[in-house]
Amino acid sequence: MAGDGIWNQDGSVWLVGAGPGDPDLLTRKAERLLQSADVVFHDALVGIGVLNLIPASVERISVGKRSGRHSKDQRSIDQMIVDAALVSRRVVRLKGGDPSIFGRATEELAACRAAGIAVRICPGVTAASAAAADLGVSLTLRGLARRLTFVTAHVVRGAVPDVDWAALADRQATLAVYMGKAAAAHVSAGLIAAGLPRDTPVALVENASLPERLTFLTRLDLLPLAAKSALRDGPAVILIGEALRGACPVDQFQSREVLHAGK
Ligand code: SAH
Repeated sequence: MAGDGIWNQDGSVWLVGAGPGDPDLLTRKAERLLQSADVVFHDALVGIGVLNLIPASVERISVGKRSGRHSKDQRSIDQMIVDAALVSRRVVRLKGGDPSIFGRATEELAACRAAGIAVRICPGVTAASAAAADLGVSLTLRGLARRLTFVTAHVVRGAVPDVDWAALADRQATLAVYMGKAAAAHVSAGLIAAGLPRDTPVALVENASLPERLTFLTRLDLLPLAAKSALRDGPAVILIGEALRGACPVDQFQSREVLHAGK
């Protein structure tokens, strides 16, 4: 059956990467785990196309997690996972993208281990990789972008993100900013103040990998404007750096319009 050999025992937990939304970007292992689980706890960010791959016989529990909206707190989620595994169930904790990137995996791993429950990770395609694919661009560039940095600029409403901009303002790096839409003005001002050129290429990708995705190309000093006016309310990743100069989005038409609007 689908789960043979993947579950080393009942009463264990897999943290599974659901990828960015397109169900075709799910790993085969993730699909096997979904098919053979007893229960799946999933985030709000997990796309409907992926959720549709979960058989009707598998219990499916949404544990929320969209920024600014009501969701279960992390401790309750940890406890729900542990409780399900303690009654010998095969538990999948399904998370958007890759579980090890801004996915609160540490807390869940620790909670399982503290309860003596076997827990493993099935990786997924992270948002930055999906965004690069939508932009038709490489995140690294020989000689020009030698470093790729994943950073989160998540802020609690109105606060200023606690980020060391000087450490990030490297012309030879590509920055992938997660949860950065609300903090776009801080990101732009912080990086420019720390020495990045104002015309550093920037790409915003909302709903990467999905048919409703939006891609926008702009420059660092125009990022706040773009983040405010160009996006809807889906999850968006901001990519910054010289590597983005070569972006050639799948949605050419839309992106060209924005480029012109930004000039
Ligand atoms: N573990 C996830 C990240 C979770 S943090 C991963 O590896 O992708 C949530 C943030 O991820 C969102 O605020 C957004 O910045 C980004 N994100 C997730 N899915 C996305 C998507 N389909 N398109 C663009 N950004 C996405």
